[in-house]
Amino acid sequence: MSIKEQLATVKSTLPTTTRLIAVSKTKPVEDLQQAYDAGQRVFGENKALEMRDKHEVLPKDIEWHFIGHLQTNKIKYIVPFVSLIHSVDSLNLLKEINKEAAKKGRAIDCLLQFHIASEDTKFGLDYTEAEALLNSEEYASMENIRIVGVMGMATFTNDTDKVRAEFRNLKTIFDKLKEKYFADSDSFKEISMGMSDDYKIAIEEGSTLVRVGSAIFGARNYAI
Ligand SMILES: *Cc1c(COP(=O)(O)O)cnc(C)c1O
Repeated sequence: MSIKEQLATVKSTLPTTTRLIAVSKTKPVEDLQQAYDAGQRVFGENKALEMRDKHEVLPKDIEWHFIGHLQTNKIKYIVPFVSLIHSVDSLNLLKEINKEAAKKGRAIDCLLQFHIASEDTKFGLDYTEAEALLNSEEYASMENIRIVGVMGMATFTNDTDKVRAEFRNLKTIFDKLKEKYFADSDSFKEISMGMSDDYKIAIEEGSTLVRVGSAIFGARNYAI
């Protein structure tokens, strides 16, 4: 199937409350252009320089989402144009994003990434760490970032009950944070969860942003 057809297949399964991020990491700009020509406007990348290079050559109405582990020395490459950073997993990273965003006169939307999988290789905060971040004076003083929700990755497994339980846990975390820290914020509304193999479960558990790569663009040549 072509990218256009695969995109249409994925989109046909999404409720109107869930937005699709086409995860295009490692794929050439020609592939992104095909998805763009088929109407896709939101793309996800996990390497800062790769995202910057693709942003330079592709149409300017694309919304770029950063979904990977972000090194502080790379923030500056994406700050001028990024729409949403999904992967904030420390106060220090948030501080650096705030600093770079201030230089550019921007306010950048961010998600707090939570560690919901049982694998210990995946990045992310636990609930206690998130509360410490949100209670800190440093966070209170940041004017160039806005936290608009949460993100998580489930364990890589065929055990769908386990995957579902992990997504449900992320939804519970979202609800708790919403009530305690963001009750007055209309913009705190995003739950980024679900990838090619598990996005249908994620949607049933309340995902508002699914990050789908291989189901649209085909398998990647190297593991990321
Ligand atoms: C690569 C990646 C995805 C997409 O993975 P697929 O299985 O190809 O859909 C989603 N989220 C993150 C954080 C990723 O790194």
